[in-house]
Amino acid sequence: MIDDACAAPPDESEAGITGPPAGLVLVSTPIGNLGDLSPRARAALEAADLVLCEDTRHTARLLTAIGVHARTAPLHEHNEDARIPAVLAQLQAGRRIALVSDAGTPLLSDPGYRLVRAALAAGVAVHGVPGPNAAVTALVLSGLPPLPFLVLGFPPPRASARRAAFQALRAAEQAGLAATMIWYEAPHRLAETLADLAAVFGDRPAAVARELTKRFEEVRRDRVPALASHYDAEPARGEITVLLGPPAPGEVTQDQHDLDRQLRTALEHQSVKDAAALVTAATGLPRKLVYARALALAAGATVEE
Ligand code: SAM
Repeated sequence: MIDDACAAPPDESEAGITGPPAGLVLVSTPIGNLGDLSPRARAALEAADLVLCEDTRHTARLLTAIGVHARTAPLHEHNEDARIPAVLAQLQAGRRIALVSDAGTPLLSDPGYRLVRAALAAGVAVHGVPGPNAAVTALVLSGLPPLPFLVLGFPPPRASARRAAFQALRAAEQAGLAATMIWYEAPHRLAETLADLAAVFGDRPAAVARELTKRFEEVRRDRVPALASHYDAEPARGEITVLLGPPAPGEVTQDQHDLDRQLRTALEHQSVKDAAALVTAATGLPRKLVYARALALAAGATVEE
């Protein structure tokens, strides 16, 4: 059902394209298609005394393409803390400072959170110019349940940490979480991430969104093991967002098969002791029970036992 407040048309007095007032403004930029830069984003960039960006050369290309001449300065993961005092001083002197990232909405797997916290703590106004975001675009195209959803950023790149992260989410499902989950992923890790999703969450609907808003846009919707096989055989290229549907209603969440699947995944790379500790933490099951099952599986036991 659509909420009345959500369905209300924009107030005409708000329909102009002037940039926001002085302060810090978070400006969303395209994720691949320049046509997605909004008139209000352009106005905010044009009105800015300074545009903070992850990569000044990348943002210079965007500004040139839209005919905006603005002063830029880098703000990235490695210098964000160091830059905050000088940026705050400029904001407190009444300057308009825009923050953009290389693509999409700043702060979401991109820099800016620490600056926003500091600006709010200093009483500086923070405004937003909403716009493109890969996770939400992928979600609405995926055919998976749109609400609730969880955007989880990039999975850990190392296999053991990634599986542990997935197992913690599986444990949250066993405690009642039922949401579509969304990750950003690099193309060279896609197949192994999908294989880990299949190992931890089992056979359920998923989607891979690639090159959204660009010429080779593709959304592949399938069961997660089929997606894992597909991208193992045909490595993907380009920008990728991965989505996993929620568990089916009534899915048995903590049966022997599920415990075994988690243990088998952990045992591929860890000792019985470490695998049992990881799965104990992820499932909340008694340590002795998990350890005994890990020993049995390591000795070649089957699910039916
Ligand atoms: N802040 C951005 C946003 O709002 O979407 C996300 C930044 S994150 C550093 C970049 C990742 O987003 C890429 O590695 C990819 O996983 C995903 N992504 C970005 N553009 C995309 C696109 N056009 N299609 C699919 N995924 C995309």
